[in-house]
Amino acid sequence: MEDNPITFAGSGLDRASEERRRRGWIDARLEEEATRYLPLWRLQLLVKEGAQRSLAWARRELLDGIEPRPEPILLGVGDDVAHFAIDVSPLDDPAEELGVAGAARFEELRSIALQLPAAESSIAAQARSLVDWHARHRFCPVCGESTRIALGGAMRICKDCQAEHFPRTDPVAIAVVARGDRCLLGRSRGWPPGMFSALAGFVEQGETIEEAVRREVKEESSIEIGAVRYVRSQPWPFPSSLMIGCIAEAESEAIEIDSVEIEAARWFDRATVESALAGSSDELSVPPAMSLAHHLLRAWVAEG
Ligand SMILES: [Zn+2]
Repeated sequence: MEDNPITFAGSGLDRASEERRRRGWIDARLEEEATRYLPLWRLQLLVKEGAQRSLAWARRELLDGIEPRPEPILLGVGDDVAHFAIDVSPLDDPAEELGVAGAARFEELRSIALQLPAAESSIAAQARSLVDWHARHRFCPVCGESTRIALGGAMRICKDCQAEHFPRTDPVAIAVVARGDRCLLGRSRGWPPGMFSALAGFVEQGETIEEAVRREVKEESSIEIGAVRYVRSQPWPFPSSLMIGCIAEAESEAIEIDSVEIEAARWFDRATVESALAGSSDELSVPPAMSLAHHLLRAWVAEG
């Protein structure tokens, strides 16, 4: 199963958690000729044009022309080259102003992820989540004064009260609910016709993953859950979640949906899910390979 790569995972960069504690080390890396910078504009990533899309990394000189000068956020080190993300959102026409029009363009990660090499989708996810977090944490939630970047972007510190703030990741439990040869899938309003997926919800405070699965499934469908097994996980950078994928055993069958949360929920047999995964079902369509739900459904079908 693990040879089936998960989009947004497997960046391969060394996050340099030791080295980034030394300001001198980061400053030296910022000055190196080989250091690469990934521009993000209003959370869109710079991607090269061409048949094989790939992230468009820039050299240090690029930063010189940008006002206000962005604060580089360290993503990690690969092949002894430091990789940073930079937020160029203040620019009005970034491709023109950066001199890359025709060679690269800014793209939404959601639409470009599957066209990027797998490792680059992960670097892009890390960059998007971090740039978004920094943009939202310019001011201290404790005292309201401004914050400054620290640890190459792994932290912000309040300039006044010195409170330390760390980029957060929000856990989301997502489960394929199984009962014998059938599984329970739900759909939200506005989805394409026939599209169903695994049920999901944020893990709340004081709650385990298993408890979150039982609560979410019960709230959305009234189905009682027994055993919950962890299968796989996926970073989900919209803006900063971790999808925790499970297979949950149902202990009841009668569905009663919460129409505020979902539009419909139904049981589907394994053969229908299998043909939906292959894109050949008239009855059901399931999320594409970019989403963890797709991989969970594959795992469940393989158990049959
Ligand atoms: Zn403060």
